Amino acid sequence: MLRQHASQNPATSRWLLTLPSFAAALFSLALALFLIASAYSEHSARQHSLTQDLLWQKQALNTRVDNFTHQLRTVAASMATDGLASAEFTARTLSLREDSPEIISLEYIDETGQERWREPEQKIERLPDFRHPYIAEIREKILAGESSSFSKIILNDPETPILAIAVPIKLNYSGRHVLIAQLNLRTMLQQQVPWWIAQRYQISLWDQQKFIAGRFDRSYDASQQSSSIQLDWPPNKLALTAHIYEQKRNNWQTSLTVVVAALSILMLASTWALRRHIKERQNTEAKLRQEQALRESMENSLVTGIRAMDLEGRLFYANRAFCEMVGYSQESLIGASHPMPYWPPEDIEQCMAIYRAILNGRADSTGYQMRFMRSNGERFDVRLYAAKLIDGEGVHTGWISAIYDITELQREREALQASHERFVAVLNGLDAAVSVSDANTGELLLSNRHFDRAFNIPERHGRYCNIPFVRRNKGAPVDSEWFDDFNQHWYQVKSRSSVWVDGSEVWLEIATDITMLKTAQENERQQKEQLQQTTRLISMGEMASSLAHELNQPLAAIASYATGCRNVLSQKEPNIAQLDQAIEKMAVQAKRAGQIIRGIREFVQRRAPHRKRCELRDLLETVQTLLNAEIKKSQVKLSVSDTRTFPPIYADAVMLEQVIFNLMKNAIEAMADTPVKQRTLDVKVTREDDMLAVAITDRGPGISTEQMEQLFKPFYTTKSSGMGMGLNICRSIIEHHQGRLWVEANPLGGSCFHFTLPLSIESEAYEP
Ligand code: ADP
Repeated sequence: MLRQHASQNPATSRWLLTLPSFAAALFSLALALFLIASAYSEHSARQHSLTQDLLWQKQALNTRVDNFTHQLRTVAASMATDGLASAEFTARTLSLREDSPEIISLEYIDETGQERWREPEQKIERLPDFRHPYIAEIREKILAGESSSFSKIILNDPETPILAIAVPIKLNYSGRHVLIAQLNLRTMLQQQVPWWIAQRYQISLWDQQKFIAGRFDRSYDASQQSSSIQLDWPPNKLALTAHIYEQKRNNWQTSLTVVVAALSILMLASTWALRRHIKERQNTEAKLRQEQALRESMENSLVTGIRAMDLEGRLFYANRAFCEMVGYSQESLIGASHPMPYWPPEDIEQCMAIYRAILNGRADSTGYQMRFMRSNGERFDVRLYAAKLIDGEGVHTGWISAIYDITELQREREALQASHERFVAVLNGLDAAVSVSDANTGELLLSNRHFDRAFNIPERHGRYCNIPFVRRNKGAPVDSEWFDDFNQHWYQVKSRSSVWVDGSEVWLEIATDITMLKTAQENERQQKEQLQQTTRLISMGEMASSLAHELNQPLAAIASYATGCRNVLSQKEPNIAQLDQAIEKMAVQAKRAGQIIRGIREFVQRRAPHRKRCELRDLLETVQTLLNAEIKKSQVKLSVSDTRTFPPIYADAVMLEQVIFNLMKNAIEAMADTPVKQRTLDVKVTREDDMLAVAITDRGPGISTEQMEQLFKPFYTTKSSGMGMGLNICRSIIEHHQGRLWVEANPLGGSCFHFTLPLSIESEAYEP
């Protein structure tokens, strides 16, 4: 039904919708036209009969006046022949009076102008007599020879319009006598207008727009429809007018018109209402169609299978998705009952149990996981949810089920599970301890096995990341190191702020066990220290003869002073002053020897690095003392710039002494082949902003550009007995003090070793 409507052309349906209204309007119009036309034709007919009747009335009046005139002549003739006293005359007069109620008076005027006779005898008040000018006028005309004459209308009394008619009285003797009759036109009209005319028309007599007389029926109103006709009563220009009375329609006619009009209106209204109703209905139908189409398309586009069973468990509906799912057509499924064609034979019992549970209204609201079978025998997993099917009137008519093919979902779930397991395996396989904790509550959201083991996080009472070492920063990731006292492990911890899967803010921390690295670093440091110690020992060993010589000098001096003292004491009177002088010199020499020995001891002593406030001047002096013998032996001229004005530095004095010692010793050794005159060793200290710069310049063979970086590599040496570690150790010591060590060529020949040391306040932090 709806489809049929849907297939209708909208233009056609609109046309169909308009047709009844159009027909009703046309009918009403035709009816109105018919009424107008019939009114018009009625009007024409009435006009026609009015004209006819008016002609007839004129004719009647004319005839009446003519008859009267004739009778008047007859009376006049009788007067003339029989005389006024004759019975004949009296009879005629009486007859005339009886026949003509409109006669007001008859007057006999003789040739002298005297009234000889009148009827009635008594003159009527307010009415004219023969002396009235209009009557005198017609008498004159008769005297002049006319056979009859009409007067102008006399209107002394408006209620009594008078027309006077004069005829001659022809006597045998000379002189002419005149008979004058006064006629009341009003009475004439009353008399002469028959009832059937008076009933239809309002008759009036007009003398040039002036009302003369009329015949009215006051109970009717005159309409506008009228007609006039001239009466030929000269000298008057009288017009006879007839107005048609307002037609009092017949009751049934009026009622019929009203009924027809009301019916027309009703028809129009009902057609309009019908049209509106149809339109609303069409709109509703269109909406319904749309909704149905939407529902159909929704049902068809659903990937969820939907099927409905009646209360007996027979399928009566299956949507497209369900049909496609099980591979059966809708027709083959409708009417199917247990066992359903899509139940796999091996699961028939389970399917039957669920089927019964649904029919008994005991369906599990969380749904059932089942296995169905396609028409080609393929099995697939579904999840089925069943509910009561309640129709629009609230009646329970069956059971509806939604069926989801979960094969793909399960595959995805398995894949997800596998991926999760892989992720956990990788996470647990990591050497690092990984954790994610809530930024607000500190609750541990994720941790790998390494983390749980390393930090022994308890399983009960919630898990919280309470690792004390973490330095956290909301911006850039932070690296920190932490020593786990309990387990004796070093960790490097990288902490960064991140967003968790639920959008909350979390801390992601990766703690890498760096205990091994730390141990290796410590070993290296110890080795280096040992190496430095060794190099110092070697240096001392190399300088042993020079140092022995150096030490020999004060010892020899002490010995000779001792000999001198003995000599003085062996004298009779020993010179005490001399003795005192010698002993004092001995003490000076012993102090000097002691200084040399302390210097050697300090230099070679094995000890941990230790920074403290020290003056560069003191370091240079110590080294100078140690190298003094060597300098002398090599005939090198040493010049050291004045260092008194420089601020102190915070450094390990022995380490820096080793650096200066190495560089000066290398310089001295480099100048072995330099002519003695040119053997100069300059030690210059300058200040550059917050740095102290030391330059040790020799006039040795110099160093080629290629060699310049090689020198600082370990075990690089050009000396047969060299170890090649000196410069390498020097650079690490200087860099350890945040300084720089490099070499340049001396423009005068030879090389110049530079190193810098910061004067920074930061150094104070290392002060013990
Ligand atoms: P070693 O003195 O045991 O050889 P060093 O590391 O102190 O070890 O020096 C490495 C090498 O650098 C020396 O063998 C030498 O060839 C070169 N060298 C060091 N100082 C100078 C210098 N002042 N002039 C020229 N060559 C130098």
